[in-house]
Amino acid sequence: MARLLRNLLDVTFARSPFQPAFQRVAGRRLAVLTYHSVPDGAAFGRHLSYLRREAHPVSLHQLLETIEREAPLPERSVLITFDDADRTLLEVAVPLLQRYEMPAMACVVAGALDSNEPFWWDEVEELVMSGGGSMGFPRDHSLVQAMKQVHDRRRLQVIDDLRASAERPATRVQHLRADELPLLEAGGVAIANHSLTHPCLPRCTNDKIETEVFAAHQILTRALGHPPSAFVYPNGDCNDHVRGVVGGAGYRIAFLFDHRMVSFPVSDPLRVSRLRVDPSVSLDRLRIVLSGLHPAVHRIRMALRRTANPPSVTAQ
Ligand SMILES: [Zn+2]
Repeated sequence: MARLLRNLLDVTFARSPFQPAFQRVAGRRLAVLTYHSVPDGAAFGRHLSYLRREAHPVSLHQLLETIEREAPLPERSVLITFDDADRTLLEVAVPLLQRYEMPAMACVVAGALDSNEPFWWDEVEELVMSGGGSMGFPRDHSLVQAMKQVHDRRRLQVIDDLRASAERPATRVQHLRADELPLLEAGGVAIANHSLTHPCLPRCTNDKIETEVFAAHQILTRALGHPPSAFVYPNGDCNDHVRGVVGGAGYRIAFLFDHRMVSFPVSDPLRVSRLRVDPSVSLDRLRIVLSGLHPAVHRIRMALRRTANPPSVTAQ
């Protein structure tokens, strides 16, 4: 029902008089699209076909050059990124990217390479489903969001509580191997550092922030034979200190996850916006994301929600 209503709203917005007005302004901006998993090749192929036809796909390298020369990108430029880089990137997305000749960027959680440990948020969801809990935290889908609000030490403690109280451990998964990263690069997918274990960096101690950035940098540099050229803040969370550490590690570009388009000239290359999208969304939704209409409506909705429910002080 919710999905039906969402689709109806997407169709309505895509055909509204706002869409062409937003589209005109958006044409001069960059859209950095963020996909996660790509389980359905057919749906993702429809997105790529649309983007090939209606947009101007650019690579991370082109974007870096453009920022350094302070020049604009071509009209309707789009950079495709894959957050967390699970195996569907290599197995489903890359062959399609090659078919449509689209460059992209993978945001790799370096500590997950060669491991079978699920990402912490997937593990938490599964442990809650099998009866796990932690005192003072919700026992439903809102738990992951609540854990992103507390200090990182507390988050790790909650994971321990869930592991101890759940009926069974979370399912193991098969992540990418370090020796597969060069294959991604050869397929036109640039590799970005997405931290070691994907905590919310502003909630970590200074020592942990350094470890998350530099240890991941070393692992990826070893796997690629050269340093990765971009950093992607886990969960999009960044403050001045985190930004300083990332810049100190030599990164010239870093990405947020704030559902906004990028204007030129880029005001801060270490805080470049990305848009949220999913291979399963309709082309109407993709259109209104690319025009900036969906991000604008989303910001209004969030502001109204904050007015109705002001954030309470979070314990711990
Ligand atoms: Zn991520």
